[in-house]
Amino acid sequence: VKEKGKAHFQFYRSEMNSFITNIVELETNLRKAIDRNELTLHYQPQIELATKKIKSYEALLRWNNHELGNISPADFIPLAEDTGLIIPIGNWVIETACKQIKDWVDKGMEDFKVAINISPKQFQQHNLLLKIRYALEKYQIHPSFLEIEITEGAMQDTEDTIPILSELKELGISISVDDFGTGYSSLNYLKQFPIDVLKIDKSFVDDVLSNEKDAAITTTIIHMGRSLGMEVIAEGVENEEQAKFLLNANCHKAQGFLFARPLPAEEIEKKFL
Ligand code: C2E
Ligand code: CA
Ligand code: CA
Ligand code: CA
Repeated sequence: VKEKGKAHFQFYRSEMNSFITNIVELETNLRKAIDRNELTLHYQPQIELATKKIKSYEALLRWNNHELGNISPADFIPLAEDTGLIIPIGNWVIETACKQIKDWVDKGMEDFKVAINISPKQFQQHNLLLKIRYALEKYQIHPSFLEIEITEGAMQDTEDTIPILSELKELGISISVDDFGTGYSSLNYLKQFPIDVLKIDKSFVDDVLSNEKDAAITTTIIHMGRSLGMEVIAEGVENEEQAKFLLNANCHKAQGFLFARPLPAEEIEKKFL
């Protein structure tokens, strides 16, 4: 029994070591990712359900490393948040999205928004507002082309976040709550924060046709959002039946593989311009 325990421990320890090696390797590479031009943004259309028209695009980070290959943001964003790298990476996202907006406006694209994800950590950075204003000015774009997606995590820290969001909103940037319903915050923040859009989390949309609770939560979020004068968008829509359910439930917009996957900017232009 003792031997077995020891062997198990050794196995565990070597697993642990390679786990740590991987994390360190990932961090070392992530640190260099911006300078090596390994980051890109892909854009996923957000569709108005009633008209099937594209109204906006969510910018999603992609990282291709020469050694490690494609790494999912689900894997490197948490690491970036823990190491503080989310600040330079987040600033790169702001800059790159604004540059893309400018390019699309120049190419004649009209009436669209680009939504960027802002991590809670970025709100603790004192110059987030400045970075955004600077990028808007640099590329001479109207703030109404920009939407920011925040999570309920950003709303824990009311003193830091509310003044920044209020100023962004005053500029004309719209504010969307991502993964709505999955965080810890109370409904009170819907009152306190200047929110324009609620994004129904994919986990509710997934089983909206088969699970009565998910269906009830989804319709309730839509109703509540509308009552509060907000726009409601459902994420992770993969089939027609889900889209039909959402349209019937009066949801404004939807995003998901049914309509389009996140695509490089050139693909967006080829397909939709
Ligand atoms: P998120 O903000 O909730 O983004 C939606 C995720 O769902 C994206 O994954 C998107 O590709 C995926 N998705 C969209 N439609 C469908 C669908 O119909 N089915 C399925 N199965 N998935 C769908 P992605 O691109 O892997 O991003 C994962 C997460 O990484 C994002 O979740 C977001 O939290 C984070 N992330 C991505 N880009 C950024 C960024 O620029 N900044 C920050 N802070 N976080 C980012
Ligand atoms: Ca998002
Ligand atoms: Ca989301
Ligand atoms: Ca999500």
